[in-house]
Amino acid sequence: MHSTNKTSFLESVDLCFNRAAKALELPKGLAHQIRTCNAICEMKFGVELRGSYEIFTGWRATHSEHILPAKGGIRYAPFADQQEVEALAALMTYKCAIVNVPYAGSKGALKINPKDYTIDELEHITRRFTQELDKRGFLGPGLNVPAPDMGTGQRMMSWIADEYQRLHPSDINAKGCVTGKPVHFGGVEGRIEATGRGVQYGLREFFRNPGDLKEAGLEGSLQGKSIIIQGLGNVGYHAAKFLEEEDGAKIIAIIERDGAIINKSGLPVEEVSAYKQENRKVEGFPDATFEPDGAKILTHPCDILIPAAMEGVITEENAPHLQCKVLAEAANGPVTYEADQILNQRNIFIIPDAYLNAGGVTVSYFEWLKNLSHVKFGRMDRRFAEAQSQKIIELMERALGKNLDQNAKEQLLEGPNEINLVRSGLDDTMRESYNEVREQHLNNPMINDRRTAAYALSIRKIADIYDSMYL
Ligand code: NAD
Repeated sequence: MHSTNKTSFLESVDLCFNRAAKALELPKGLAHQIRTCNAICEMKFGVELRGSYEIFTGWRATHSEHILPAKGGIRYAPFADQQEVEALAALMTYKCAIVNVPYAGSKGALKINPKDYTIDELEHITRRFTQELDKRGFLGPGLNVPAPDMGTGQRMMSWIADEYQRLHPSDINAKGCVTGKPVHFGGVEGRIEATGRGVQYGLREFFRNPGDLKEAGLEGSLQGKSIIIQGLGNVGYHAAKFLEEEDGAKIIAIIERDGAIINKSGLPVEEVSAYKQENRKVEGFPDATFEPDGAKILTHPCDILIPAAMEGVITEENAPHLQCKVLAEAANGPVTYEADQILNQRNIFIIPDAYLNAGGVTVSYFEWLKNLSHVKFGRMDRRFAEAQSQKIIELMERALGKNLDQNAKEQLLEGPNEINLVRSGLDDTMRESYNEVREQHLNNPMINDRRTAAYALSIRKIADIYDSMYL
């Protein structure tokens, strides 16, 4: 399925940008400079497959270079096109600025349905694509660092890293040319779950803000809140799983490609995911009603609607009928510009994509730091921290004259390991940026919604970098 919206994804992103830029006082022409995509390259390359040559088309856009490297995923999708890549690259620039990750924005795509190829063929194609990206200056640990996106994953990232290392054997930082790699190949623990985890942390922070809860017409915590999620892929699966298992939210509907399954008492995400893996569909999942027209379920009543599949799914047609209180944008660009205006008029509280799905790039940043420092997080301080805690426990036990509870002792003794540090860094990032966006909204009378606030926050930060460059 591809978008049939009147306003393209790229236009939607630009219109949101313009709306935010108007709320700021910027030197003449600077907004235009920030908005403009600096470089985009279309690559056509042949790969010998099944006895003949097949030509593939791919793109990589570097939206900005106010800071380097530029960062952004590579997607493999049959409907990919240049405009979509440009829109996603722009979103990456804004996203990185919002969450204080020191990257410019980039994005790439290959027009391909990965399901049509064997693993060996995909490796061959990915290595050729890597050579093209490298040849044209769109790859390198200090220049441009891709990551997974729709249709790509860890395995492809390791092929990219391996091919880049082969092309640059003396580059000691070569592994940092791409993130989202497997942990045993230079990746970082917690990267696969990162975007979904970030959605969870972002929603938790929303629930910590009574003013925002009131504005959305909600109260309490995530416990028992009804959630509808679209897309049970990497992002949707992790977000839904953590919200269900750790926060007690009820996932009342899951919308997938073949339709939606609904159960008002809550769906067990892990079981649905296993069922989907096995049957390649959600239809037939036990104890749930099936609706073949899945998109219809976006307008069902719920506390939180999480689009986590693709862009342009909430349009001016369905926006008037949405019945959620909060729209938590896990996907990139799920709401068109027209729909955004309708939802703002309807006072539906939107937690925008450029903030909410930034967990992936945040943990990619941690992975890149790990690659550049060549040391696993926690390696230097874990045992030291354990020893410190041991001393504190001994002092406490001596002072109290009794032993502490064994469970509490074990928790206190757990030194900082990589997964805990990654989650802690991500949690901190999502909390801080939530409140930066919130303050931007509340402190600027020209800003009426969170998306505009998120864009304005990032434009302000990027403008400050330009300002300091041209002092
Ligand atoms: P994915 O390919 O792992 O999952 C997408 C899921 O959505 C799949 O289960 C697919 O079957 C389903 N889907 C596709 N079209 C659908 C439709 N029309 N209706 C219902 N379900 C549909 O992709 P992902 O990595 O989870 O990415 C999802 C979204 O999140 C994209 O917009 C992507 O750009 C964005 N995003 C991903 C990351 C990341 O780290 N993977 C980071 C930031 C943003």
